[in-house]
Amino acid sequence: MKKTALSFFVLFSFIAAFSQTIYDHKEAFNPQFYPYPGNDYRSASGEPGPKYWQNRADYKINCTLDTLTHKVSGDVEIWYTNNSPDNLKFLWLQLDQNIYKKDSRGSATTTEAGGRWANAKFTDGYSIKTVAVEYNAKKSAPRQTTTTDTRMQLWLQEPVKAAGGKVKLTLSFEFTVPERGTDRMGQLKTKNGIVYEVAQWFPRMAVYDDIQGWNTLPYVGAGEFYLEYGDIDFTVTAPSSLIVVGSGELQNPQECYTPEQMSRWNTAKNSDKTVVIRGDKEVNDRNSRPKTANTTWKFKIQNTRDVAWAASRSFVQDAAKINLPSGKKSMAISVYPVESIKKDGWQRSTEMVKASIEHYSKKWFEFPYPAATNVAGVVGGMEYPGIVFCSHSDSGPGLWGVTDHEFGHTWFPMIVGSNERKYAWMDEGFNTFINGLSTEEFNKGEFKEGGFFGDPNSSFMIKYTFDDKMDGLNTTPEVIQQENLGVAAYLKPSQMLNALREVVLGKDRFDAAFKEYISRWAFKHPTPWDFFHTMENVSGEDLGWFWRAWVLNTWRLDQSVKSVAYVKENPENGAEITLENKEKMVMPVTVLIKEANGKEHRVNLPVEVWQRGAEWTFGVATTSEIKEVILDPDKHLPEWNRDNNTWKKKAF
Ligand SMILES: [Zn+2]
Repeated sequence: MKKTALSFFVLFSFIAAFSQTIYDHKEAFNPQFYPYPGNDYRSASGEPGPKYWQNRADYKINCTLDTLTHKVSGDVEIWYTNNSPDNLKFLWLQLDQNIYKKDSRGSATTTEAGGRWANAKFTDGYSIKTVAVEYNAKKSAPRQTTTTDTRMQLWLQEPVKAAGGKVKLTLSFEFTVPERGTDRMGQLKTKNGIVYEVAQWFPRMAVYDDIQGWNTLPYVGAGEFYLEYGDIDFTVTAPSSLIVVGSGELQNPQECYTPEQMSRWNTAKNSDKTVVIRGDKEVNDRNSRPKTANTTWKFKIQNTRDVAWAASRSFVQDAAKINLPSGKKSMAISVYPVESIKKDGWQRSTEMVKASIEHYSKKWFEFPYPAATNVAGVVGGMEYPGIVFCSHSDSGPGLWGVTDHEFGHTWFPMIVGSNERKYAWMDEGFNTFINGLSTEEFNKGEFKEGGFFGDPNSSFMIKYTFDDKMDGLNTTPEVIQQENLGVAAYLKPSQMLNALREVVLGKDRFDAAFKEYISRWAFKHPTPWDFFHTMENVSGEDLGWFWRAWVLNTWRLDQSVKSVAYVKENPENGAEITLENKEKMVMPVTVLIKEANGKEHRVNLPVEVWQRGAEWTFGVATTSEIKEVILDPDKHLPEWNRDNNTWKKKAF
């Protein structure tokens, strides 16, 4: 989702002029990095092992939106396949709507009044009316169901057999769409009607994996989702005056649009330019919607973790074709109220969606879904497979930034299904990193300046990255201090990947390894260790020192120029430059040396120069006096104290 505006507090950081180094080379390069060896499930090379398994959940959902009561009611059929080596006597489901109840853990722990995770008004959460089980062609009621906050445990009459047992669950559910749903769903009142954004809306299977069995962390607010893959068919029935959009492919457009709109829809499917399907002048025209009282919109999406949808009478809608590397096509779709049309406003959304998805598909992995829909609503920015919710008030660089970010999440965590509830850096951070490359490319760099996330290596950002109060990357999102979430989950991991790409591995080796990570773990569940193993195995670089500093600890980087001397005190004999690593993090070093006669030397030192201690001296074949020595001249690294990166010849 969208990062929280960093609440910048005044920072009193004191950097002592003559501080001693705290660097410990034995600690930095300790060979013991991996806590356990590879196994049959997850190989030491970072690939899914020969016995890798994951369970599967396919869903069929029918629901109705009541616009008078703002209630969604429906039935869900879940086909759950147990591919694990264990017989499962009980199952866990996620009941995320229960976070909006007054007595939920989420409500209890949201201390920030009116804050992002706070509820404007409480709801009654889910009302689950029936639960039925079908196993081995036998129908039964569950032996027992117990709901604890946002989780429901369902004890079965008979365990679901290991290695392929299949059980079918049927549940009927109802809930009220919250007005503001933890910035992930809700209602926006516009002059032409409410925009409903509906997500975390049906009971979903919790993940059972080889790492910890059932993943039952509750939905409390900051932590996002960890979900199984499967195919989802769903229908939404709503008054015909509403336009509904959802994850996946709309199966029955001819029943949902007027003949005129249908012909525009077909034009859009083959158009690189945005085609308006329902224009702003048509919004209040009853003839712009079918005459029936209700319309049932049918959607289908395969190999997905989730589905979401949105509905409103107020929607202007447009679309264009997305070209994918394999030759397949997808569709970029935008819906927004007329109020969102302004300079560089939502009428440009489809152009942005198309560019974003085409970029990521070419660069990393092909977009797997038949449509990509951007919805303007109350949610600031939130991602779901094939559909995202972005703020109705965004325009220009803000609209590009949020659209590109939320669709970037298609790759992390929709394709690469890491555990978001535990490791925010593996989706938000990886996504923020790929957003940088996409933004450089969009419309020849139109919004490159004043980037969405700011320059991660600006001295301002670095102060936050390495502040004493900063949380480590492997901190659970709920535990990361609110004001740190933007840095710990987004900026720092993005800086980390930038540094790995630009300074440690180089673009080619990094891109090959990162691409391989995506394809190895596409539609699977990697852990941080699978990521580390993959990056090391594919790039051929032992990176324990790197992950230790960046991920496992909150170490700082401070490279400095300690001294410059000349051989036999004569610059014509060459110079000896001594560097010092003052903090605990190590990185390779790039040094730019400028001589008085205008000659320049660029020296790249590998990280191994720091293996023997905090100081390193190297020679340069100078022919005149050195005017200036600069470390990290391209500013690729987050330097805690950039002042000591430059040595200048003293003026007499
Ligand atoms: Zn995000």
